[in-house]
Amino acid sequence: MIRAVKGTHDILPPESAVWNRVESTAREIFDLYGFSEIRTPVFERTELFARGVGEDTDIVSKEMYTFEDRDETSLTLRPEGTAPVVRSYIEHQLYQDPQVLKLYYLGPMFRRERPQKGRYRQFHQIGAEVLGSDNPAIEAEVLEMLELFLGRLGIKESTLLVNSIGCSRCRPRFLQRLKQELAAKKDLLCEDCQRRSETNPLRVLDCKVESCQPIIDGLPSILDFLDDGCRAHFDKFLSYLKERGIGFTVIPRLVRGLDYYTRTTFEITSRILGAQNTLIGGGRYDGLAELLEGPPTQGFGFALGLERLILVVQQTGNLMASLPPQLFLAPLGEAAFARSTLLARDLRRQGIRCAYDFEPRSLKSALRLANKLQAQFALIIGEAELHSGKFQLKRMSDGEQVEVSAEQLVERMRG
Ligand code: ATP
Ligand code: MG
Repeated sequence: MIRAVKGTHDILPPESAVWNRVESTAREIFDLYGFSEIRTPVFERTELFARGVGEDTDIVSKEMYTFEDRDETSLTLRPEGTAPVVRSYIEHQLYQDPQVLKLYYLGPMFRRERPQKGRYRQFHQIGAEVLGSDNPAIEAEVLEMLELFLGRLGIKESTLLVNSIGCSRCRPRFLQRLKQELAAKKDLLCEDCQRRSETNPLRVLDCKVESCQPIIDGLPSILDFLDDGCRAHFDKFLSYLKERGIGFTVIPRLVRGLDYYTRTTFEITSRILGAQNTLIGGGRYDGLAELLEGPPTQGFGFALGLERLILVVQQTGNLMASLPPQLFLAPLGEAAFARSTLLARDLRRQGIRCAYDFEPRSLKSALRLANKLQAQFALIIGEAELHSGKFQLKRMSDGEQVEVSAEQLVERMRG
């Protein structure tokens, strides 16, 4: 037997209906807030991620699916969506639009991680990016949109964590101090952090190894190092959240795993998820467009993991997987079967969801199946009904039965 590749999974019915519901809710809410969809290719030149995500990140250093094309170009299955969106923004000169650009994407991402609950090698993200504004109001608006989206899905208990990681002007002073402190405690750090403490000390704050936690807790806070501009930006952002009644917790050690982030960073977590508890991660990335040889462009965005979101929705949400048929057709005999296939065609053309079985059944067994499918009504089509053109319509909830013509049937089903 050939099985799906480790870390990948099939999305089967009835769960696929939940996926559709979640995706269409995202499209509806994001559209309300003026976001348009962008679809970028599933693979890109490796260079895009090496540069745009950063060589020293987990993603680039150990998680990418990279392969050589037949012409020796190095290609990579996209591990995230922001670098491709910004690549496309530059390539198509979308910056010529005088307005702030709001884009969202939805699709599979690929990272070679150790598969576990909520962590896969092919997974799906919904993400959104706002390009061309450094106003903290846009950040608050995006969080407001996410609150509405999660609320629509019936998710009530999520936590918003926020922080600012400063900018290229004030961060170096913090990094220098961090390096000093980490050098003094180097022996106590895990292997990865020993390396990071020199190459990319900010990422030590992101470490999840148990033994590093007490050391991280004792490190200085980046918030004490913000310059006036970054401080004012962060304070405004927080005040806009308060105005909207959006609850949050400031976590000074919250940094993002990607190098291009500046100022505001955030995460939305859910305790339902256990160890992999981050549902959404995002922040500001004012330096990315220039890094990719585009014009300086401020950016703010997020990505949410769909598998994790679906896990939460299935535990707390009130999304019905899929709707049962309105009508189950129960033909008795061959002539009645032929008539019911055409009747089903006419009903479906009028938007009525109906079902019937392709195997001959007795009336009793047909009604049993109608019950199992949770159909609202069953329509009995026997010899007598064929001749009279009147059918027996049975309401499954209480067994009430009435005689209807084909025209009356459509009316009743609509009502
Ligand atoms: P983590 O710390 O959990 O590895 P990350 O910082 O690598 O997350 P991001 O790159 O910010 O994650 O991606 C945003 C979201 O995408 C995550 O919060 C998560 O919901 C989801 N995600 C990331 N990697 C995976 C994966 N391998 N499988 C499933 N979902 C994922
Ligand atoms: Mg990760």
